[in-house]
Amino acid sequence: MEEVNNRFVAIKGHINGAPAESDFEIKSETICLSLKANEVEVIVKNVYVSVDPYQLNRMKSQSSSQGTINFASSISPGHAIDTYGVGRVVASGRADLEKGELVVGLLTWGEYTLAEPGRLLNKLDAMGQDLPHHVGALGFSGLTAYGGFYQVCKPKKGESVFVSAASGSVGSLVGQYAKLFGCRVVGCAGSQKKVDLLKEKLGFDDAFNYKEETDLKSALKRYFPDGMDIYFDNVGGKMLEAAVANMKQFGRVAVCGVISEYTGSGKRAALDMLDVVYKRITIQGFLAADYLKCYADFMKTTTDHLRTGKMHSLCDISHGVESVPAAFIGLFSGENIGKKIVQIAD
Ligand code: NAP
Repeated sequence: MEEVNNRFVAIKGHINGAPAESDFEIKSETICLSLKANEVEVIVKNVYVSVDPYQLNRMKSQSSSQGTINFASSISPGHAIDTYGVGRVVASGRADLEKGELVVGLLTWGEYTLAEPGRLLNKLDAMGQDLPHHVGALGFSGLTAYGGFYQVCKPKKGESVFVSAASGSVGSLVGQYAKLFGCRVVGCAGSQKKVDLLKEKLGFDDAFNYKEETDLKSALKRYFPDGMDIYFDNVGGKMLEAAVANMKQFGRVAVCGVISEYTGSGKRAALDMLDVVYKRITIQGFLAADYLKCYADFMKTTTDHLRTGKMHSLCDISHGVESVPAAFIGLFSGENIGKKIVQIAD
């Protein structure tokens, strides 16, 4: 029976602040590529794995997110870490999956995934798209952007939309859906290079570097003199406060994530609730998993847009399992442009 070395990323202990390289270790184990020996249903060689901000909340010793839904559950130090990704079947006990086929689903930050029965794992039809796109624009980031924009923001043509972390995985897709829908879109990001990309490649009407603004409320007033209808929030904190102060009556805020609050270093949002009341603002948190019912529509619309060049899928790829910790840490200082992915194997 063939045995291989499986290297995987683990946390050394719970992480309650900003993550650092020293919080992680690359562990190594010998695994047998036989189903019987491992009592698993499928063995997958990981090819592209996703790197996402929400994992930090799973690494904390305690977070209100951890008890809400399976994929947000606490990560135990020393153990393999689940993540979304694309891989190739090495051994299968499932009738619908054969050795050598590509799969997409819940893998690990490691070289192999030993998938127990019931784990999210589906055969991948690449539909002519590059594999990394199935981790980003055609994966959970895409569904988040699609469900969040169409179902939570409930846009109308001609409305004004503000997107934060706009050059990131979810934000870059939201802005493009909003433009294609017929909205006026402004994004913010953390560097001039990102701002240029938003305006020149992704078709945003305008964009600004929030790190250069001393007063976010006035900055948003400049870009939305009549107020904004929709704010797609990826960052929380001071940006959320400033956006609420600049909403129009009956404006909608889709709270996708609050990355500025994950490391504990940023300020938590303290909204002016009188704005919320008197402007009758709707603020709704959501999870991508709430919109699995839109999955078929999302896949069809997005593959069509990618194929015709109406949308761009930005992928930011690092290589090798040992690069996962740095890739993850970089999310919290804005090092990525588009979907952060690590390529584990060819
Ligand atoms: P991403 O935007 O590709 O990467 C994170 C980006 O956030 C960084 O590149 C950085 O860009 C920005 N950022 C980091 N720290 C910041 C801070 N303190 N203040 C402001 N911006 C900061 O990540 P993503 O995967 O697309 O996720 C974006 C958000 O959506 C996150 O909050 C995530 O948790 C959330 N999310 C939610 C769901 C859901 O189901 N609700 C699903 C996926 C993601 P800059 O250079 O612009 O600072």
